[in-house]
Amino acid sequence: MNSKPEALTMETLVSLAKRRGFIFQSSEIYGGLAGFWDYGPYGTELVRNIRESWWRAFVYAQPNVVGLDTTIIQNPKLWQASGHVDTFVDPMVDCKNCNHRFRADHVAGFETKDLSKYDEKLAATKCPNCGKVGEFTPARHFNMMFKTYVGPIDDEDHLAYLRPETAGGIFAQFLNVLESSRQKIPFGIAQIGKAFRNEITPGDFIFRVRELEQMELEYFVKPDKAREEYARWKQYCMDWVLGLGLDKDKLRFYDHEKDERAHYAAESVDIQYEFPMGFKELYGIANRTDYDLTQQGKGSGKDLSYFDEATKTRFVPYVIEPSVGVGRLALALMHSAYTEEKVGEETRVVLRFNPEIAPVKVAVLPLSKNEQLVPLAREVFTMLAGKYRTEFDETQSIGRRYRRQDEIGTPLCVTVDFDSLEDKAVTVRHRDTMKQERVKIAKLPEAIENLLASF
Ligand code: ATP
Repeated sequence: MNSKPEALTMETLVSLAKRRGFIFQSSEIYGGLAGFWDYGPYGTELVRNIRESWWRAFVYAQPNVVGLDTTIIQNPKLWQASGHVDTFVDPMVDCKNCNHRFRADHVAGFETKDLSKYDEKLAATKCPNCGKVGEFTPARHFNMMFKTYVGPIDDEDHLAYLRPETAGGIFAQFLNVLESSRQKIPFGIAQIGKAFRNEITPGDFIFRVRELEQMELEYFVKPDKAREEYARWKQYCMDWVLGLGLDKDKLRFYDHEKDERAHYAAESVDIQYEFPMGFKELYGIANRTDYDLTQQGKGSGKDLSYFDEATKTRFVPYVIEPSVGVGRLALALMHSAYTEEKVGEETRVVLRFNPEIAPVKVAVLPLSKNEQLVPLAREVFTMLAGKYRTEFDETQSIGRRYRRQDEIGTPLCVTVDFDSLEDKAVTVRHRDTMKQERVKIAKLPEAIENLLASF
């Protein structure tokens, strides 16, 4: 009866996201800015829920993971040591005919570190914009880090970068965390925060943006345990995104060939999701070996090795890194949740979010704007609002209010009607089945809890 439309397009999601207040173009009244998006009221709730779910799964559920919150701007030496200043680059080409700029790997359809391989392929490739063949400039590297100046002098000595990933701050604080939290290897440090990448071609809505938010775990292990831990985290990430509600048949692992992974990574894999434009990276998981701590040790002159009391040996830990973008995951979740179904003559659009991430858990709806119903409905709202994100809505017909809640993915609607004044009960409507049941107001919190758990 209900289904995902055959071809759920990005336009459909963009339009729903704007109409219902999930996502707006940043500074839209000025025409926006390419690669920057704002979250509206429901989008803000959605991404908060995603972050909280990640934090529960990757920090609270772990016996040995602690959180960290480092600054966006760090001493620029950190990014020299990490290699970002020299190698955080994407291959770029221009079409000489239409002057459009592209990522060479996107046009070529493969990734390689050898720029000449792009040139070979692109010599016989059509420009995706104007269609002319063989008009591309040679591929060259473009550094994606945003630059800024710290302090009142804007010269090279005061140059700094907006972090291109959150991980750098974690490696730089490795010793402080180790000493203050008394962790032993294996242990992890988790961080959620903004990162900035001056992407050559931002696009596909919030899939590729220039200001993004990442949820990253750096899990430090003994070198000989790295392969095993890598395999464990790879599966853990997949299980977590499945649990959040992504369609199973739209997910797959994509193991990187040697030529595709960073030079220091021993193994890396993407969890790919089938977005409207095809299978693309959602989640990256890598065994980054001892590269990061070794480099930061060299760059800072500090010893970032670890002394293992049990074996009386000293080593530089290997690190396993699962990294995912909050926005990219929000887009995949909206895509998986979107369904349409025919109800009579109408099409009912429902975002079947897992209640854990649904922006609003319960909507309280007085049947009409009646002077007796509204105060009772307010009381019901107050009973629930401290625990769940609850919305109170008294405008329009009840049918239209249900449709609105369906479109933002609210699992439960509670309707206060004239009988409620007599029987002290309300009607609870289930988003997916549209089934309604009568519940005593006194028992409502318990019933809501059970119903939310039943999805
Ligand atoms: P790509 O090859 O698509 O540019 P990447 O391999 O550079 O991505 P990582 O450095 O592995 O990406 O970043 C980890 C995660 O951060 C990605 O899996 C993705 O979820 C998110 N991410 C990275 N870049 C962006 C971006 N520009 N916009 C939105 N999310 C991003």
